[in-house]
Amino acid sequence: MTGTMPRAEKILSRINELASVSEAAKGITRRYGTAAAVEAGEKVRGWMRAAGLRVRVDAIGNIRGIWKSENAGADRLVIASHIDTVIDAGRWDGPLGVVMGLDLLENIISSGRKLPFDVELIAFCDEEGVRFHTTYLGSKVVAGSFERDMLDRKDGEGVSLREVIGMIGGNVEALEGDAIPPDQWLGYFEIHIEQGPVLYEKKAPVALVKGIAGQVRAEVVFKGMAGHAGTVPMDMRKDALCGAAAFILAVEELAARAGSGLVATVGKLQIANAASNVIPGEVVCSVDIRSADEVVLSQGHLQLKELCEAIGAQRALEVIWTVVQSSSPVVCDGRMNELLGKSIRRAGYEVLELVSGAGHDAVPISAVSPVCMLFVRCYKGISHHPQEHVETEDLAAAIVVADEFIHQLSEIWKYPL
Ligand SMILES: [Zn+2]
Repeated sequence: MTGTMPRAEKILSRINELASVSEAAKGITRRYGTAAAVEAGEKVRGWMRAAGLRVRVDAIGNIRGIWKSENAGADRLVIASHIDTVIDAGRWDGPLGVVMGLDLLENIISSGRKLPFDVELIAFCDEEGVRFHTTYLGSKVVAGSFERDMLDRKDGEGVSLREVIGMIGGNVEALEGDAIPPDQWLGYFEIHIEQGPVLYEKKAPVALVKGIAGQVRAEVVFKGMAGHAGTVPMDMRKDALCGAAAFILAVEELAARAGSGLVATVGKLQIANAASNVIPGEVVCSVDIRSADEVVLSQGHLQLKELCEAIGAQRALEVIWTVVQSSSPVVCDGRMNELLGKSIRRAGYEVLELVSGAGHDAVPISAVSPVCMLFVRCYKGISHHPQEHVETEDLAAAIVVADEFIHQLSEIWKYPL
């Protein structure tokens, strides 16, 4: 591991260099298409070029560097993550996978080794979806699933995605052409911080990802009757907020009791015309339901909806349940995970398998390629926050595992996968 410490230090210094590029003077914010996001992309492009990759910026703004194998017509392993961020973000969520992928390739290239497959390193330009409220814009282009109606979406200032793509030198007419054809994929490998506390609690540096939770996001409206807080007797009220409150606690209880890895959260609550002397007449809340198991997810969704309707009926409230977003769970590739597990074991660590509760670029890519992910421990599981932190020793551990994984892949690739 001592030999990998200088590489870990270099990764850290690049992470810090990217962290210095932000829309705001304080903190780290790089939303898609902003000057800061473009500048960060330029840095990555420079590093990729210096490493000897054939680099280009694609039609939506992903930075893509190819390391060609000597095998003509070889399949492509994609190593990728994103370099856009949430607002006031940490420095590791996203850039880690890009900078580590770069280190992996630099190490292979400088050692004069050849691989039996092509490797494409990609820095996706939009995963978080903060600016246009739509996730995975970058990886959807690469997967060939970009939805053209997204082009008319507008940001908070009324600028459309189509306009932003033009402003950063992209080309809306070439988006489809930037997809990697399904028959060219060997696989997809993403290194990412865990963004949760399990590795920190278990005192382990890395884990492989079994799957990525599917998600249902619904908006729930409780409609009662607004009234005077002083004059309407308690037994004659239709208090929408009390209905929502009962529902929020029921959501927590149902998910906690499910014991099946189901998680459910009410994170947003809006009280219409709120005032201290008015009985709430209408409340809108969000529900976020996730599970790595399709059946658990759909059953959980159905149960919560029924529960909500029962609470509404009991309290004489009208309930409107609208699904605003849903995605199916992703199962990471068994064969790739077998090799990743072997690599973790060879590096001297216990093989832990986690389900990712957060979405990743691997989600859209999984429609066209086998995918796998390596999670790296982050301090107390803190993420999407300036305190997000990764220890340099854990970077070194992840380097050993990732090196071994590429070695394993190149061994196995000589035979049919
Ligand atoms: Zn991320």
